[in-house]
Amino acid sequence: MIIKHDVVIVGAGLAGLRAALEASRNYDVAVVSKLFPTRSHSGAAQGGIAASLGNVEEDHIDWHFFDTVKGSDYLGDQDAIEYLVNDAHPAIYELEHMGCPFSRTPEGKINQRKFGGHTKNYGEGPVLRACFAADRTGHMILHTLYDQCVKNNVRFYSEFYVTDIIVKDNIIRGITAYDMEGGEYVAMHAKTVMFGTGGYGRAFKITSNAHANTGDGLGVVLRAGLALEDLEFVQFHPTGVYKYGILVSEGARGEGAYLINNDGERFMEKYAPKLMELAPRDLTSRSIQTEIDEGRGINGENCVHLDLRHLGEAKINERLPEIRSFCRKIIGIDPVEEPIPIEPTAHYSMGGIPVNVDGEVLADGKSQKVEGFYAAGECSCVSVHGANRLGTNSLLEAVVFGRRAGKTMVKFLNAKGVDKADLPEDQVKASFDRIEGFKTRTGEEKVGTIRKELQQVMMTKVGVYREEKGLKEALEKVRSLEKRFEKIKIDDKGMKFNTDLTEALELDNLLQFAELIVSGALNRQESRGAQYRRDFPKRDDVNWLKHTIAVKKDGKIQYDYKPVVITKFQPQERKY
Ligand SMILES: Cc1cc2nc3c(=O)[nH]c(=O)nc-3n(C[C@H](O)[C@H](O)[C@H](O)COP(=O)(O)OP(=O)(O)OC[C@H]3O[C@@H](n4cnc5c(N)ncnc54)[C@H](O)[C@@H]3O)c2cc1C
Repeated sequence: MIIKHDVVIVGAGLAGLRAALEASRNYDVAVVSKLFPTRSHSGAAQGGIAASLGNVEEDHIDWHFFDTVKGSDYLGDQDAIEYLVNDAHPAIYELEHMGCPFSRTPEGKINQRKFGGHTKNYGEGPVLRACFAADRTGHMILHTLYDQCVKNNVRFYSEFYVTDIIVKDNIIRGITAYDMEGGEYVAMHAKTVMFGTGGYGRAFKITSNAHANTGDGLGVVLRAGLALEDLEFVQFHPTGVYKYGILVSEGARGEGAYLINNDGERFMEKYAPKLMELAPRDLTSRSIQTEIDEGRGINGENCVHLDLRHLGEAKINERLPEIRSFCRKIIGIDPVEEPIPIEPTAHYSMGGIPVNVDGEVLADGKSQKVEGFYAAGECSCVSVHGANRLGTNSLLEAVVFGRRAGKTMVKFLNAKGVDKADLPEDQVKASFDRIEGFKTRTGEEKVGTIRKELQQVMMTKVGVYREEKGLKEALEKVRSLEKRFEKIKIDDKGMKFNTDLTEALELDNLLQFAELIVSGALNRQESRGAQYRRDFPKRDDVNWLKHTIAVKKDGKIQYDYKPVVITKFQPQERKY
C-alpha cells in the first residue's frame, strides 16, 4: 500500500507534534508513531521546561545562554543556543495560550523552580527558571499539543513502525513502515519527511528511558549512509531509582532534596561547593559514582540516598506527587518518611542526526543537505547541549526546534510546491524484503539475550567512567553481538502485532549505533561533559574542541570533524 501526504513526520513526541502543528496550518500533515501519540516518552518528563521569564526572581536570556554554553562544556554551538534561549519565551507563552496547565504563582503567573546548572548572574547560585506543571510537565505539554494537532486535522498513524527512509539523488521520497495493527508493510510517499524519533537510553541496562526509546531514527539514518554527530556523549542522570533506573526528577533537588552518603554526609559539598545538589548532571553523576566506588554507598551497595524528608508532606504532595506515588508503588518507600536509594541512570543522548538551526538534515554532518529531510528533538544534534545537557533544556529544544523545523517545511513547500519526486519502487521493495528477511533467518540466537548482553556491557564499560581497556572490550563485544544477531530466530511468522519482529528491528538499530557510541568514546581522547575518560581526565581544547561526525561505509566507521560555533563565550575552566 502507498499512502501520500505533503508532510510525513515520524514521531509524536514534543518535537514531532510541535512541527506538525506548525505545518498543518498550511499543508496536509501525517504523524507516524510506533506508539499511540500521547504514550511518547516526552510524556514522562517530570521536572520542567526552561525559560528565563523572571516570573519569580530576576533572570535574563543572557544568563540562560551562558549557563547552557558552560553546561555543554563549551561543545554546544552558540548560534543554535542563542535561538534556544531567545525562542524560549514565545514558545512557553504559546503553550500557555493553547491551554497548557502550568503550575502558577499566587498572583497567577507561570511558576518557576530551580534546576541543575541554571544560575543567576553567570554562575553565582541557582536561579528559579524551570516552568513546570507539578511533576508532570511533559505529560501536560504533550497532551496540549496533541489536542491542537487533532483540531488541525493532522492525520495520525499509530502503531506504525518506520523502518527506512527512501532517498534518491539526494532528495527524500518517503518512508517505509510496518503497520502493526493492520498487519502489512506500507510505503509513504511525501515531499517532506521529518524525524522526531526521540532518544536511545535503551542501549543501557539502567535507564530512565521508556522501552520504546531504541534510537530507531539513528539506525535508519545510518543505514541510508548519512552521518551521525557526537554519539559518544550520553548523559547519565544522577538520580535513578536504585536497580530500576526510573527517574526521580531533578525537580526534587530543585525543591531542595539532599544527596547523602553512607556516612550521612551531604557529599556534594566536596565536589560543587557553590551549587551543591544543583550542579550539572555530568558532575553530579560522577560525584555519586565516586562516593560509591570509594565505599561510601549505602550499606556498601551501588547507591546513595536522595533525601526529601525535610521538605515536608505538604510540599511533596503539591510539587512532587508523581515521585511520591511511584516510590510507594514500585519500591515500597514513602519519601515523606524515608530517603530514596538512587544511582546514576542512562538518560539522554546529546548526539544524533546532524541538523542546521532550521532543522535541515546534513548528510555529511556539515553542509550537504538532503532535500526535504528534517529532524528535531532528542534524535537530532543541532547542537545546543554540546557534551552535557542542562535539565529542562530538552523539552525546550523539542518545542523550539520542532517549531522551527515546521516553519522550514512550510517555506520549502511554499517555494517548491507539493508535487513529489517519484518513489523508487526498487528501494521500497528492498526495504520490505529486509524486514521480511528477519523472519526467515535460520539460527538459534534469541533477540532478548543479545539485547541483555548489549545493555550490560554498555552499562559497565561505557558508563559514567570510561577508559581505553574497557572501551576496547566493549567494542569487541558489540561487534560479536552484531555477528550473532545475523543468526537470530523469530518464532512469530505472522503479520499482526508481531512484536518478535519489531523487537528484532529495534535491536538491529541499537547494535548499529551502540557501536558508534563505543567507538566514538574510544576515539575521543579527552574528558568533556558526559564523556569522562579515566586515562584522559582533562578537557583538551587544543585537539578536541570539535564535533565528531561518523558515517558507516561498508560496515566500517569513518570519522570526520567540524568546528564548534563560538560567538560570545570563550571556553573557560568549568567550576561550580
Ligand atoms: C523520565 C524522563 C524525564 C525527563 N524529564 C525531562 C524534563 O523534566 N525536562 C526536560 O527538558 N527534559 C526531560 N527529559 C528529556 C525529554 O523528555 C526528551 O528529550 C524529549 O521529550 C524528547 O522529545 P522528542 O519529541 O524528541 O521524542 P519522544 O518524546 O521520545 O518521542 C519519540 C517519538 O518517536 C516515535 N518513534 C520512534 N521510533 C519510531 C519508529 N521506528 N517508527 C515510528 N515511530 C517511532 C515514538 O513513537 C514517539 O512518538 C526527560 C526524559 C525522561 C526519559
